[in-house]
Amino acid sequence: MPNMSLKKTGMPSQDPKVRAHNFLEVSQGYTAEMAQEEAARCLNCKHRPCVNGCPVQIQIPDFIAQVVKGDYAAAYDIISQSSNLPAVCGRVCPQENQCEKNCVRAIKGEPVGIGRLERFVADWHNAQPAAAIKKPAPNGHKVAVIGSGPSGLTCAGDLAKKGYDVTVFEALHLAGGVLVYGIPEFRLPKDIVQKEVDNLTALGVKIETNMVIGKVLSIDELMNEYGFEAVFIGSGAGLPRFMNIPGENLCGVYSANEFLTRTNLMKAYKHNALTPIMHAKKVVVVGGGNVAMDAARSALRIGAEKVYIMYRRSEEELPARREEVPHAKEEGVEFMMLTNPVEIIGNDEDFVKAVKCQKMTLGEPDAGGRRRPVAVPDSEFVLDADCVIMAIGTSPNPLIKSTTKGLETQKWGGIIVDENGKTTREGVFAGGDAVTGAATVILAMGEGKTAAKAIDEYIQKRAL
Ligand SMILES: Cc1cc2nc3c(=O)[nH]c(=O)nc-3n(C[C@H](O)[C@H](O)[C@H](O)COP(=O)(O)OP(=O)(O)OC[C@H]3O[C@@H](n4cnc5c(N)ncnc54)[C@H](O)[C@@H]3O)c2cc1C
Repeated sequence: MPNMSLKKTGMPSQDPKVRAHNFLEVSQGYTAEMAQEEAARCLNCKHRPCVNGCPVQIQIPDFIAQVVKGDYAAAYDIISQSSNLPAVCGRVCPQENQCEKNCVRAIKGEPVGIGRLERFVADWHNAQPAAAIKKPAPNGHKVAVIGSGPSGLTCAGDLAKKGYDVTVFEALHLAGGVLVYGIPEFRLPKDIVQKEVDNLTALGVKIETNMVIGKVLSIDELMNEYGFEAVFIGSGAGLPRFMNIPGENLCGVYSANEFLTRTNLMKAYKHNALTPIMHAKKVVVVGGGNVAMDAARSALRIGAEKVYIMYRRSEEELPARREEVPHAKEEGVEFMMLTNPVEIIGNDEDFVKAVKCQKMTLGEPDAGGRRRPVAVPDSEFVLDADCVIMAIGTSPNPLIKSTTKGLETQKWGGIIVDENGKTTREGVFAGGDAVTGAATVILAMGEGKTAAKAIDEYIQKRAL
């Protein structure tokens, strides 16, 4: 009998007052009983609308049916046919805009907690003794992957399974891309990402860290001197945008990327950390996406007394994952909606002292259909602050384009590809944020998968 409860089975989480001061994971996952209770809400619909909402087409009703039976190994096998990173996606995918958006249970009540069930199955699998990974027989072909984020890891994994000799070149000192340098430990524990990286190395993938392609080696050198027959560019969109308002060069103004990299990757909040971070008391985070929420919640954990999210539209338009907004509020982050900074004011030592802000209202819809924020006349006010974090978007770094002959990009920097991830340069493929601009983990993985298939076809055709 299906469970006809209109609400999702609740997931335990750390007490907001406690978690606002630690970096341990907030949501604690379902027990087996909770997972079974939630799985029983799935109606196993014939037309499977949830599957159409999943960018990698996980056969959702099938894996949920196995959870109902208590056969978690079978559930994991079904998920892993489509997704290489289920423990990651179960935690960070915006399910409310994808699979769960299409769930028929959402017509009357809450959708089935598909993300929570995916996380449960992946965590169950990770808790079992690891089966020895068998290295596939080598096929004699070499592929280079630039960047070790979800697109690069997925592409590398799919090619390694086919016997390719794959080397991932990563600019930072740790593999994982945004999964390690951007998304904080309290949303995505780093041992989960490391496990995925370890699985790849067990398959034979080589990972070269501290290798900035375009500086240390170019794509031309990789292909002409090092024998790589194809290259996948999964270098993300790590170049931060700023507002170009007065005061953005003051001490205490960070891009969210810098703030989060210091905090997450380099653990700047620890006593003996290799990098400093400002222990600010009043922090203004500008933006309304996941990046803004992560920066605000990290600032609280480092010890800020007041943290504001300042967003120029209203709460309804906040682009962050739905779950992150109440989590941030419960922890004490204050939301200043319909507000925009116009100037950052410094003290005599050039440190941030305050932010001059302006109230906004929503006007006519823009080309994308979202109502455009319009400044309210004579609405300026000054807010005390000693730190400002800009989380208003990122774009692809131009380094690879500027050092690779024949690689064309859009005006804003996104690499131009066809539907298979093939770029304008022979033998070079691309995917993830480097192509789309800042998007999501699952989309980046989907593009890594598509490109791996195209790279395989390209190399096999050449070898004939
Ligand atoms: C703070 C934050 C929170 C987010 N939260 C979510 C979320 O909750 N859910 C979600 O779905 N998405 C989220 N996203 C977006 C998601 O993480 C990205 O869309 C995804 O990681 C993109 O994957 P990618 O493989 O294209 O690139 P990335 O993950 O950016 O990885 C690119 C890698 O390439 C490396 N690189 C760059 N240039 C070079 C070079 N020249 N040579 C060698 N290596 C290079 C970088 O160091 C990086 O490791 C978030 C993003 C951020 C920043």
